[in-house]
Amino acid sequence: MLPLRLAAPPPSWERDVDVVVLGSGAAGLSAALAARPVRSVLVITKDELAAGSTAWAQGGLAGVLHPEDSLEDHVRDTLAAGAGLCDEAVVRQLVTEAPTSIRYLMRLGAAFDPAEGGADVALTREGGHSHDRIVHSGGDRSGAEVQRTLDESAIGAGVEVTSRAFALDLLIGTAPDGTRQVVGVAVALVGPTGEVLSVGHVTARAVVIACGGYGQVFASTSNPPAVTGDGLALAMRAGVPAADVEFVQFHPTVLWTGPDARGQQALVSEAVRGEGAILFDAAGRRVMAGAHPLEDLAPRDVVAAAITRRMADAVEGVDDHVFLDATHLGERFYTRFPSITEACRSIGIDPAHERIPVAPASHYACGGIRAGLDGATSLRGLYAAGEVSRTGVHGANRLASNSLTESIVTGTRVGRDLAWEVPDRVDPDPLPPLPTVPERLLDPDRLREVRAVMSRHVAVLRSAASLASAAGAVGSMARTLTDDVPPSVRAWEATNLLTVASAVIAAASVRTESRGCHRRSDFPDPDDRWRTSIDVHLDAVGSVQLSGLPDTA
Ligand SMILES: Cc1cc2nc3c(=O)[nH]c(=O)nc-3n(C[C@H](O)[C@H](O)[C@H](O)COP(=O)(O)OP(=O)(O)OC[C@H]3O[C@@H](n4cnc5c(N)ncnc54)[C@H](O)[C@@H]3O)c2cc1C
Repeated sequence: MLPLRLAAPPPSWERDVDVVVLGSGAAGLSAALAARPVRSVLVITKDELAAGSTAWAQGGLAGVLHPEDSLEDHVRDTLAAGAGLCDEAVVRQLVTEAPTSIRYLMRLGAAFDPAEGGADVALTREGGHSHDRIVHSGGDRSGAEVQRTLDESAIGAGVEVTSRAFALDLLIGTAPDGTRQVVGVAVALVGPTGEVLSVGHVTARAVVIACGGYGQVFASTSNPPAVTGDGLALAMRAGVPAADVEFVQFHPTVLWTGPDARGQQALVSEAVRGEGAILFDAAGRRVMAGAHPLEDLAPRDVVAAAITRRMADAVEGVDDHVFLDATHLGERFYTRFPSITEACRSIGIDPAHERIPVAPASHYACGGIRAGLDGATSLRGLYAAGEVSRTGVHGANRLASNSLTESIVTGTRVGRDLAWEVPDRVDPDPLPPLPTVPERLLDPDRLREVRAVMSRHVAVLRSAASLASAAGAVGSMARTLTDDVPPSVRAWEATNLLTVASAVIAAASVRTESRGCHRRSDFPDPDDRWRTSIDVHLDAVGSVQLSGLPDTA
């Protein structure tokens, strides 16, 4: 059983605002900025403003800006990547609003790289896109520019930010009509090393969860350390359903820095293959030739699976990486991809003249809290935006560079709606006593085991046997949850990641097919009966429950 509330010291302070936003990435800041002209808005963020994935994004933002491109083609490419699980109406809405979201960022001051001649922005192509439609900045520093633009705009607009503030659990109230309603959030103020300074209650008329994904549940990931599934776990503890959590996109090419590399790894963006780079194995054979009609520009899941299979063959004894050859770009590589150049040089590789060692790593959570493109969830007063949410845009696999666009579009829509209308204020219910489910935490030193299990058994290729091993191991770890562990950021993150791991394993175990980025070696093909999303939630005693399964499951 998983905890239904994170153990924490009792609250010693209170704040009240109209809207509280959890997280300061593209989604959270877009929401805060859009709500701010009308509402008092407080952004709670657990580290510094730029600690989430947004600042790390390399490739850019997808949107139809070229006259030869079309909205219809962007819709088609997104649906194709999503492998039958996208919500077409939501995709259509996103694609229609994507060009505006990019122009909006430019109006806010984002400097995207200009096309030759300088009149328009440069557009590049990434895997799965049928046209050049990705805007980028500083070559491969696109996310940093988005983050900088939103940081400055939000602060300039008077959005209040509390950094080093960890969102623990939602506060729930009961509306006059008897409906459960989110009325705020319990927050811990923490010191620079994660020590707990105090806990307080922020009451609000609306809570927007924008805490990003859960890449850190795997041992090797492109995600920064802050991306620990806190938002998803917090929503699940409040009984809010998540969906599609088994669809974790593995980026085919993070920089391989050695057999013992753990945690965040430098990304070698898809845009490098967009510029013509080619994957080879250790024997110098092409990895993607014959694997897919788009070869090295095939969708990410196809490339990650092809690399994983080639690594399993241990060509020339090399079983943990392959090589990306971008030497045709010569020294242009340095200016087009400055961050990747820096990362390569840090391990002694010159990408203009040498092949880059690469391997797949967890990269993007396609699923998350069930929400509409307007952020509304099943719980009144609770909204979710960005990578933490599952809007139906990505289905079983995200099309490259659709996520930053989605974060801006969804965040802005949530904020705009909340500017016009917020739920009526409701007092929090007294916190229920939890004698049957004690507030227990995972010993943070055990997180290493959770991650190792996830990477060994629940990564690019899964099977009934690997998932059963993972379920056994994670179930045993849940039995070690104890009230002896003192509350700290590390313990809360470890406990949240255990909750997320349990949800991912449960959903991946029942989905007996391969679809999008969920690949089962024992069920290698898609099965039409599974053309449906699985909902996952925690029940009243902290057990993971699945719903929405087809009759045959
Ligand atoms: C290396 C890399 C490259 C990428 N490249 C691209 C790309 O080129 N194009 C693209 O579209 N997408 C890309 N992505 C994905 C994209 O960056 C993310 O999906 C997107 O930035 C998510 O934005 P977000 O606002 O939802 O979350 P994030 O930017 O991850 O922000 C989450 C925020 O929540 C805060 N937070 C988390 N937990 C708590 C808590 N308990 N309490 C308070 N605050 C909390 C974090 O500190 C952070 O501020 C990339 C991702 C990575 C990691």
